[in-house]
Amino acid sequence: MDKKVLIIGGGPAGIETAYSLALQDVKVVMIEKDANVCGNIQNWEKLFPDFKDAEEVRKILSQKLNHPNIEVITNTEIKNLYPQGNLWFAKNDDERIFEANAALLATGFEVFDAKRKEELGYGIYDNVITSADFEKMYKSRKILTAEGRVPQRIAFLNCVGSRDEKVGNHYCSRVCCINAVKQAIEFKELVPDAKAYCFYMDMRMAGQFYEELYRKSQEKYGVTYIRGRTSEAAVTRDNRIQIKAEDTLSALPMKMTVDLLVLMVGIEASAGTTLLSEQNDVLGLYGFAKPLGLYSEDNMTTKPGLFLAGTCKRPLTLPETLADARSAATDIIKYLKTTK
Ligand SMILES: Cc1cc2nc3c(=O)[nH]c(=O)nc-3n(C[C@H](O)[C@H](O)[C@H](O)COP(=O)(O)OP(=O)(O)OC[C@H]3O[C@@H](n4cnc5c(N)ncnc54)[C@H](O)[C@@H]3O)c2cc1C
Ligand code: SF4
Repeated sequence: MDKKVLIIGGGPAGIETAYSLALQDVKVVMIEKDANVCGNIQNWEKLFPDFKDAEEVRKILSQKLNHPNIEVITNTEIKNLYPQGNLWFAKNDDERIFEANAALLATGFEVFDAKRKEELGYGIYDNVITSADFEKMYKSRKILTAEGRVPQRIAFLNCVGSRDEKVGNHYCSRVCCINAVKQAIEFKELVPDAKAYCFYMDMRMAGQFYEELYRKSQEKYGVTYIRGRTSEAAVTRDNRIQIKAEDTLSALPMKMTVDLLVLMVGIEASAGTTLLSEQNDVLGLYGFAKPLGLYSEDNMTTKPGLFLAGTCKRPLTLPETLADARSAATDIIKYLKTTK
């Protein structure tokens, strides 16, 4: 096929769509703002729910980009995306222009900036970290406090930046409950005698094998789940973290002191997602891109030739993102076959 597709974003959604198109003889130019491809999964060590080594998945995805129909351009951030006739154009800050027959937004998400929840002490107290920081630490298989001690008590706090009136994010990020279960198990495997607590509003275990893992975390690893709303975190004299919460099952206030507090940060639309969606009148709620419809039109937009894949639309897990990307490729091919 003598047609070209522009993919903006070289994360899992961009790569999987690029490869599916390339296999069907479509030429692809994939543009990534960072130096490396693979998007946010570059920051994860092991994946839920099966503890698969994320590096293995990154290798498989990166190899797909060796297909001769795919050109990858990194270190290039697209700031402007617009149609002209039947063609799509994308521009970066240096006014370099890319042209193609169709365009795909695969600009993904950013993790919630926990500093916006000042009352939880991230960026203020050394022993408050995020789930993304936990992943970095876990690479060395050492989870330590700022003083280099092995924590004897650790707490995971769910729903940071999601389901939160105050920060304006009413939606559920879908990945953080199961990520807390995964990280609690990882911690307990490293420090079996330590206590691990998880504070939650509801444990949302809707994915396949999630419920089983949640049960295993309690039965085999002794992780304790507390249905409670945490109002604030404060530092103690010995640099530990005191959490104030309301146990919503007993309706009683409670205090707990831990050595390390892990904030389970949620998913927000990336700046690129919001900017390029707004430019093309496809901006949906909370800065995510809006598909034409939820059913057979979930990868299409109101703009002919502009498609969406992955977490630029809403929070998705990695398998969901990859399936969505393959679905986007099907729609793009249909469009290219019927458009001059
Ligand atoms: C804390 C956390 C842990 C997670 N762990 C797991 C897990 O264990 N298992 C699992 O299944 N899922 C996990 N997920 C979800 C998983 O990370 C996502 O499903 C996946 O990364 C989505 O891929 P994507 O391509 O849609 O977006 P992203 O990974 O965000 O990729 C988007 C890409 O687009 C690029 N981009 C953005 N704007 C522009 C622009 N203007 N120009 C050029 N490039 C641009 C970005 O640099 C990025 O490379 C986790 C999520 C979170 C928040
Ligand atoms: S997945 Fe769990 S922790 Fe994340 S926003 Fe939803 S309910 Fe909260």
